Amino acid sequence: MLITAPAEQFLTGYQLIETRCQYCKTTLGEGDPVSAYAVRYAGDEEWSIPCIYCRDCQSTITDPTLGATELLAEGHLGVTMDATTQRTTLTLLGIERIIRSEPEEGHVTL
Ligand SMILES: [Zn+2]
Repeated sequence: MLITAPAEQFLTGYQLIETRCQYCKTTLGEGDPVSAYAVRYAGDEEWSIPCIYCRDCQSTITDPTLGATELLAEGHLGVTMDATTQRTTLTLLGIERIIRSEPEEGHVTL
């Protein structure tokens, strides 16, 4: 079953694997303002966040990919704790703005 949710909703609390800025390689931590790049390719149901940036490094989708829905979400990093496992993870919180690029925008990346 396909479940749809507003972008803010599924991005908030998203567990980030890569915590360095894709552009300047600064390691980002709790409280840092970030731009998170999320992508979903045509035919896929799943979103992924392959990279994040410092807010200053990336504020727009500069190179849209044809066939993919892309989002750049501005928020900040926060720590979420799972009370059951006592494990903390770095997640995306406080999303203020989302820039969106539709699949028909952009060009084919070879
Ligand atoms: Zn950066």
